[in-house]
Amino acid sequence: MHEPAPKPPTSDVTPAHIGIIGAGQLGQMLALAGIALGLRFTFLDPSAQAPAGRLGRHIQAEYDDERALEQLTVECDVITLEFENIPVSAVTSVSHHNAIYPGARALAVAQDRITEKQYFESQGIAVAPYAAVDSLESLGTAVEKIGYPAILKTRRLGYDGKGQAVLRTPADLPAAWAQMHEQPAILEQMIAFTREVSIIAVRSTQGELAFYPVGENRHVGGILHRTDIHPDDPAQAQAESSARRVLIGLDYVGVLAIEFFEVEGGLIANEMAPRVHNSGHWTQNGAATSQFENHLRAILGWPLGSTTGKGHSAMLNLIGQIPPRRPILALPGVHLHDYGKEARAGRKLGHINIVADTLNACRVHTAELERVIAAP
Ligand code: ATP
Ligand code: MG
Repeated sequence: MHEPAPKPPTSDVTPAHIGIIGAGQLGQMLALAGIALGLRFTFLDPSAQAPAGRLGRHIQAEYDDERALEQLTVECDVITLEFENIPVSAVTSVSHHNAIYPGARALAVAQDRITEKQYFESQGIAVAPYAAVDSLESLGTAVEKIGYPAILKTRRLGYDGKGQAVLRTPADLPAAWAQMHEQPAILEQMIAFTREVSIIAVRSTQGELAFYPVGENRHVGGILHRTDIHPDDPAQAQAESSARRVLIGLDYVGVLAIEFFEVEGGLIANEMAPRVHNSGHWTQNGAATSQFENHLRAILGWPLGSTTGKGHSAMLNLIGQIPPRRPILALPGVHLHDYGKEARAGRKLGHINIVADTLNACRVHTAELERVIAAP
């Protein structure tokens, strides 16, 4: 990279050009929100089939390709990410020439499950008991400290529950360690939670903060299956205060999600995602301003939009296949979001948002939708 001077602040009169590292469904939904605001997009993604490539210029290259990053830097007014596992060094080198949000520090913290837990602890946020593991022997020591049941995860690059093994007895240790393929790992106590919840929070370059209503998440096979939004969720205050500390402490800009386990004594932070998040997709139809629009407003230093919920909402992920559209769209308050990806078992292909005036209507329509989706 050899562009010397940092760029001047983005104008709010001429349309800004946004660079996004990654062109998957999150990039696509960011662009769909941003095109409505008059923004233009360039994406950097190695895949020729990347969904968001249809909505802007697509630079097909690896995420840390120096020349591609330089092109993005020169072409765009501000750069953001839809994917947290890009090398921190790439973000640092871009940051010398252009604004990039979130920044290197937030990424470095979120990329490693140990530094992430340490960061939560430094902010006074409770986490599950944990220990670092880098051999079968140290797994033995860790399990003595943590107890059974426990869950072994790779420190880096996990998603959708991949790279995880549950330990219930000493006999499970060798197979669990083998599953880590010699990568550094973390052993966590298995938390007997009552619910899993997450909060979507946003902070702008101007320091403005906003928080969405907390969502309750249900996973199937380690993949998010469904998010339900209950207005006045009792977890809201604690989730919001944790998110505020994380955002301010990291001088964070953009949308950030934090996943929690709810136990009797309150919330335990599981992990954070320094980007727009699957458990915030309901905001496209169920909130005054979507997480995608607010992320763009935040990185441009524009005023944030209201995060108020419109009624009772739920989101169902479409995994492995997109069901027939007619019976889905015939249901009231239903919004289909199809990412345009090739169908494959276990792959997130789309989601459906359900918005209703009453809790009961939301439940009934969601149950009906679950039946339609499960139908062969
Ligand atoms: P994703 O990227 O989809 O959020 P991930 O691979 O980063 O997933 P986690 O969020 O850590 O992984 O774990 C996936 C799911 O496994 C959690 O949402 C939860 O249901 C379960 N899980 C993970 N860690 C624990 C734990 N310590 N105690 C109980 N359940 C856990
Ligand atoms: Mg998770």
